[in-house]
Amino acid sequence: MTTTPMNPTQWRGALRAEGVPFTELEGWTSRGRDAATGKIFGPVNGVLNHHTAGRNSLDLIAYRGQGAAVPPPLAHALLPKTGRLVLVADGRANHAGLAAKNSFDAIVAETRIPRPDKSTGTVDGNDHLYGLEVENLGDGRDVYTRAQYDTWVRWNAAICRFHGWGAGSVAGHLETSIEGKPDPKGPVEGYGRRGRFTFTMAQLRADVAERLAHAPSWSPPTAEEADNAMPGYVNLGLAHGYQLAPGTWDDVEFTAEWADETDDHAANSPTFAKGPITFTGSVAFRFEHLAPAEVVQVRMSEYDDAGELRANHPIHEVIGTVGGTYAVVPLTKRIGPGRSMRVRLLNQGEDNIEVASAVLTVLAWEG
Ligand SMILES: [Zn+2]
Repeated sequence: MTTTPMNPTQWRGALRAEGVPFTELEGWTSRGRDAATGKIFGPVNGVLNHHTAGRNSLDLIAYRGQGAAVPPPLAHALLPKTGRLVLVADGRANHAGLAAKNSFDAIVAETRIPRPDKSTGTVDGNDHLYGLEVENLGDGRDVYTRAQYDTWVRWNAAICRFHGWGAGSVAGHLETSIEGKPDPKGPVEGYGRRGRFTFTMAQLRADVAERLAHAPSWSPPTAEEADNAMPGYVNLGLAHGYQLAPGTWDDVEFTAEWADETDDHAANSPTFAKGPITFTGSVAFRFEHLAPAEVVQVRMSEYDDAGELRANHPIHEVIGTVGGTYAVVPLTKRIGPGRSMRVRLLNQGEDNIEVASAVLTVLAWEG
């Protein structure tokens, strides 16, 4: 863990690694309130998030500030609705004001942040907290865009990852302010597979924590990707029973297709799964004329695109019983690209038997 503020090279590296789209405002690497106040930015202990309560705030944040009392810069970065962040300053910025000591201590300790209580004392948040202004009117109706929220999570995570902090180092102005600041708040268009939701610091921290649990190059799965992650249902069978002669391995030709959400299996039969795919399920057989104690062997076999046998999987033995033989054989495997899977039977008896029914039921995840 380091509490020395990031230098420009470290900023660029951390943001690029985390997939933050950003531009650099001229002069950002020398902009800050350090010289004017005689107070050096750092050690840093966390990130403070704000909404702008306005539009087109770059001029205000970088150059104008709020009069003589609150000179610029008013944040380290501005996050417009486009989601493309603007780096404004790398020095001390006027965004946090006084933070209640009880809240500030919780950010440092990464424990639950209590309601800010001025009677516990105050800390100058501008000395110790990075500040981000996120464009939003703050009226409770103006919506943070998807792109904006995605960058928002990434920016906080980039800083936490650089410093070795957890998401407990991420705070909102409303959690530290002794003046009752309400920001940030408002509805969010969506994030990852999530649709519209109401911004909360708890949710932002959860989303930052999720990012930090992954490599910086990670992206949250989209709703479309989540759909693809749903398994396809495959249910195949036999249009008619058939005779199986003894002595050789024989493919089960699935001639009936009741459900096939992954491929055209009946057309590809005897293939029931084509890689890359992961599947799990079973095939249920009814054999007629399999004499008691005679054996039919069942196995999955893996073929390549040229139709060459590449791998045989373990054998399941089905033993004949009086009055028809029933068996359910499990089918679970992952196969790579260019591989396909068949179910094969070997009649080990002396006589023909009838494969009266073969019902295959699997859930399959492509890829
Ligand atoms: Zn604020």
